[in-house]
Amino acid sequence: MASITLKKLSKAYGALTVIPDLSLEIRDTEFVVLVGPSGCGKSTLLRVLAGLEPISGGELYIGNDLVNDVQPSKRDIAMVFQDYALYPHMTVRQNMSFALEMRNVPKAEITEQVDRAAALLDITKFLERRPKALSGGQRQRVAMGRAIVRNPRVFLFDEPLSNLDAKLRAQVRAEIKALSDQLKTTMVFVTHDQVEAMTMADRIVVLKDGVIQQVGTPEEVYNQPVNEFVGGFIGSPA
Ligand code: ADP
Ligand code: MG
Repeated sequence: MASITLKKLSKAYGALTVIPDLSLEIRDTEFVVLVGPSGCGKSTLLRVLAGLEPISGGELYIGNDLVNDVQPSKRDIAMVFQDYALYPHMTVRQNMSFALEMRNVPKAEITEQVDRAAALLDITKFLERRPKALSGGQRQRVAMGRAIVRNPRVFLFDEPLSNLDAKLRAQVRAEIKALSDQLKTTMVFVTHDQVEAMTMADRIVVLKDGVIQQVGTPEEVYNQPVNEFVGGFIGSPA
């Protein structure tokens, strides 16, 4: 079953068309990695999926539901940003509980959800700390925890590892991949790092100027690039 379907989707900011005409189907539980040079529209596409930006044309479905005009909180999607955007004045537990409190989830259930996500991410011992008392990797995990407690159908990641050093990046990369196997949710992961794309993706989507150049497994994209752009982009060092 399709998890996300884009039909002739377009997005412009005023006179600037960032995504002219994009069609793509992302399957349930699939791990899709979106790559492309800076400015090609990766973040825009995620923001559109999350409902943080209105689309300019076309259709966007989550499951079978047309969500063109559905607000972000009703989309069953959680987004993990590059800068984490944790609430500095709240503890880790409060950061993770907040979205559920907004939805009036009963207190006992919130505690249970947060404890479960914290155990999964190995951050139980940090639950009463504030973000500034955490390392970058730990903050990254809290950001993921905040998304997990919402139990979304789709996770969107916008270059979540780019602020981490190389060693930690490899570790968190493996953790996210393991998590996706465990949770069996759809993941759309944006990166400009070819190694991340090659190691994490079920399918890679290569974007240039808001236009899909190629969609395929890492092997297909690496071994049979459809054009020079894809070959150069995937083959070059990060
Ligand atoms: P990427 O994430 O691939 O680096 P973005 O989606 O951030 O690319 O940006 C794509 C293009 O859209 C860029 O030219 C950028 O300057 C422009 N853009 C992004 N956000 C906005 C905005 N809110 N208003 C106007 N232009 C924007
Ligand atoms: Mg971006």
